[in-house]
Amino acid sequence: DHRLAKIASAIRVIPDFPKPGIMFQDITTLLLDTQAFKDTIDLFVERYKDKEISVVAGIEARGFIFGPPIALAIGAKFVPMRKPNKLPGKVISEEYSLEYGTDTMEMHVGAVEAGERALIIDDLIATGGTLGAAIRLLERVGVKVVECACVIALPELKGRERLGDNPLFVLVNAP
Ligand code: 5GP
Repeated sequence: DHRLAKIASAIRVIPDFPKPGIMFQDITTLLLDTQAFKDTIDLFVERYKDKEISVVAGIEARGFIFGPPIALAIGAKFVPMRKPNKLPGKVISEEYSLEYGTDTMEMHVGAVEAGERALIIDDLIATGGTLGAAIRLLERVGVKVVECACVIALPELKGRERLGDNPLFVLVNAP
């Protein structure tokens, strides 16, 4: 698709952030390019509009940028998947492993019902640990995860392998 090259070039790379050796993919510059940002949302909407998705689950924090416009356009509700102790109501939690230690993801109880069809959105997949936790959280409450979608992937980290049989759609791969 002709739109992908412009999306890829609108993502800025910041070396040594947040620590030495990391090449951080900064999507805030994509948000400044009104055409590339619109194209990003449109590409996801074109793919998911006829897939009977009832919930878009967005992962904190940058899944909260891309998820809501997709949800509105496809007629789905938006559910935030948050870092621990941020959601005020009763939550269901899922722990996942990081390079060093563990983290936890939380979702409000009652936000989704068994039998619903979900699309999970984040900005980037690296190891796949974060998306894997989101999949498990939704599956535990009986939701069917139709697909996970990200703007960008770091393919060297083989995150796709951590998602098992769950399909992953990404717009661009980091060089
Ligand atoms: P994973 O769990 O796949 O290893 O890491 C993915 C999570 O870390 C995502 O929520 C993503 O927002 C964040 N992340 C890791 N590296 C980067 C990066 O270089 N750029 C951005 N924008 N997010 C990153």
